[in-house]
Parts: sequence; C-alpha cells; structure tokens
Amino acid sequence: GQCAAICPTGAIVVKSEIGKAWAALNDSGKLVVAQVAPAVRVALGEEFGLPAGEIVTGKVVAALKRLGFAKVFDTSIAADLTVMEETTEFLERVEQGERLPQFTSCCPAWVKYAEHNAPDFLPNLSSCRSPQQMFGSLVKKYWARELGKKPEDIYVVSIMPCTAKKFEITRPEFTTDGVPDVDLVLTTQELARMIRESGLAFDKVEVESFDMPFGFTTGAGVIFGATGGVAEASLRAAYEIATGTVLEQVNFEEVRGFKGLKEFAVDLNGTEVKIAVVHGLANAKELLRRIQNGEAKYHLIEVMACPGGCIGGAGQPIATDQEVKKARARSIYRADKLSQLRKAQDNPVVAKFYEKWLERPNSHEAHESLHTSYATRGRITDEDIQLLTSERKHKV
Ligand code: SF4
Repeated sequence: GQCAAICPTGAIVVKSEIGKAWAALNDSGKLVVAQVAPAVRVALGEEFGLPAGEIVTGKVVAALKRLGFAKVFDTSIAADLTVMEETTEFLERVEQGERLPQFTSCCPAWVKYAEHNAPDFLPNLSSCRSPQQMFGSLVKKYWARELGKKPEDIYVVSIMPCTAKKFEITRPEFTTDGVPDVDLVLTTQELARMIRESGLAFDKVEVESFDMPFGFTTGAGVIFGATGGVAEASLRAAYEIATGTVLEQVNFEEVRGFKGLKEFAVDLNGTEVKIAVVHGLANAKELLRRIQNGEAKYHLIEVMACPGGCIGGAGQPIATDQEVKKARARSIYRADKLSQLRKAQDNPVVAKFYEKWLERPNSHEAHESLHTSYATRGRITDEDIQLLTSERKHKV
C-alpha cells in the first residue's frame, strides 16, 4: 500500500488501508460497522474547507453511511466504559496503597513506549484496554451474539486520529480464536480521501445521528480527544464514587490546555489525590525521570503521546498552526458542555451493558473482555516510537 500520514524509513511503517476498506464495503458479505473516535469529529471538516475545529459529528455519520457502512457507532461510549473500569481500578489501588501512580493506558504509543523503554513502570499502567479495543470486544463478543451472528461475520472499522491505533489492533491479545476485535483502522485523513474518491460533497451532506446501542455518550467520553480529558473524566467519576456525593461543578480547568505538564489535587475522603497530565513523549519522559528520582509524586497520571492529545494525532489533517489545535480542543469542550450528561457513570447505555454483559466494573467478566496485560520488550529508540505520533512532525 501507499504510505499514509508518515513515511518512515525505520521499522515502523504506517500503511494506507483505503483499499481494504473499499473491499470490505463492496463484497465481503460481512456486516461492516464503523466506530468514530472523538477527535475525528472536530477535524475532518478541515479537509473540506470548513473552519478549523468545526464540529461535524452528524456529517461524519452521514458520510460513512453513504460510503456503505451498515452501522456507525461512537467510540466515546467505550471511553465512558473505560472511565468506569479505570476509575474503579484506581480507587482500589488508592485504598490499598499499591501500584501508584496509576498511568492511563488508552494511548497505544505511550503503552508501547512503556513496554520498550520504561518497563519499570509497567505494573503502574492501568490494565484497561483502550476505548477502541473495548469497543471491538463488545461488538464481537456480546453484540454479535445478540444479533445471532458469529464474530467473524462482523467487520469493525475504526476511524481514528491516530496511526498508532493501526499497530494496536494487531496486538495478539486483541484477537480471539483468529478473529481480530477490530479489523481495520482508517485515519481521519484516510476517511477524507475515501469521501473524495466517492465523489460525495461532504459540506453539503445532511447530518445523521449515531446508531444504537453504541451511539450514546456523555461529555466525559468526548473529552478523551483532548489532553487532560481522560484525567478530567476520571475525576468526575472518582469524586462521586469515593465520596458518595454528587459533583455539581464538573469542569476541571486545571487539567485543560496545552501546558506540557498540568497538575491538580483533589480531596477524596480525606486522602489528597494528586493528578498529573502530560502530552508528548518528551514531556512524559521528563516526568518519569522526576518520579524515579523522587522529585515528583502523584497518584494518577494521564499520558498522551501526541502534543495536544488525540486532536493533534498523526492521522489528523496536518495542523501546522497552533491555533488549529486550540480550535479543535475548544470544540471538544463545547461538545462536552452541550451534552445533557457529563459523567460516564450517568450513561444509561453503559449501565445497561453492565447489567446485560459485564456485571459490574472490574468484575471477572469485565476483566476478561475489557482489560489486558503488558510485557517488557527490548529497548528501541524514542524516535522509533515517535514515528507513531505527531510529535516529530508538528510540535506544540
Ligand atoms: Fe494516538 Fe496520539 Fe491519541 Fe496516542 S495521543 S492515542 S498516539 S492520536
């Protein structure tokens, strides 16, 4: 295939997979479904002359339907599920005082970095799979069964801001009996190319809404797209679960924005919980160094390998201007603000998934389907991992 967002000369090659997507849509005989990551909806419009950061969620859904996808779902609902799993895990670690700080694990480039170049921290990573992989697991394991289909009868295509997600789906632990949980990843740029190839006028297409059951998200699942969003979504849940009281003010401004390191402390039942947020591997590396030296101490750390988080991912339309990324982030928080529900724990569809399929957060079943484990791998250069991210191409 042709090179997509990046054409490295090293070991990691990111290939365009538009051909595979067309083949699946045209004649696979499978039910082809899409999941759309939060960062895509605030960037795809730029490829079609719309203002930077414009929220085009309804157009993305409609365009995917016109390309032939049978169902179009929202990865954000799986992000809500991630919040439930990760926060439950976190509160247990706080109570037992073990494996702290807990690191987020939804960015596959960060996970890969930790496995290769920071293995001492692997026990501290959350065992949660990323939202993309949780989604794939739900579809192939449970939803297929409800439809009376086999997992291999459904073809899952992720629309992602990210090139590392292409690598993530090939991890053997995310394939069950030879059937991958997610079959294909297309970047935002690749989807734009497919739309152009189809001749569809994106700016004119009438909006549509996501399909159920994976179409209803809270604001918490949407802010995963910007740096600080995962930490903020977790805080909204951790506070309510730990204290048993309703959190009225859900905005945690301290963890928003593009500062290299953001910090916040919150009192959870008399325990002062310290949170740090870093984006870009260079910032992450510096933070790890300070933790190892005893200069810094935290309970929860969000790491996103791309500067700005997923809105600035390597699969997004190239943002040469910092203002473009800022506009995308503003739109992410606007979408959150416009949501009737802002907390993952309030998502009634996620509650239904627990009732029907998963029992409760961190149950045995949830562990089987939504969690993973990590392995120490040989050291590689930081630059090799940065090839999966936008860090070396456009710096914040
Ligand atoms: Fe992918 Fe970058 Fe987001 Fe990590 S931060 S999940 S590498 S887009």
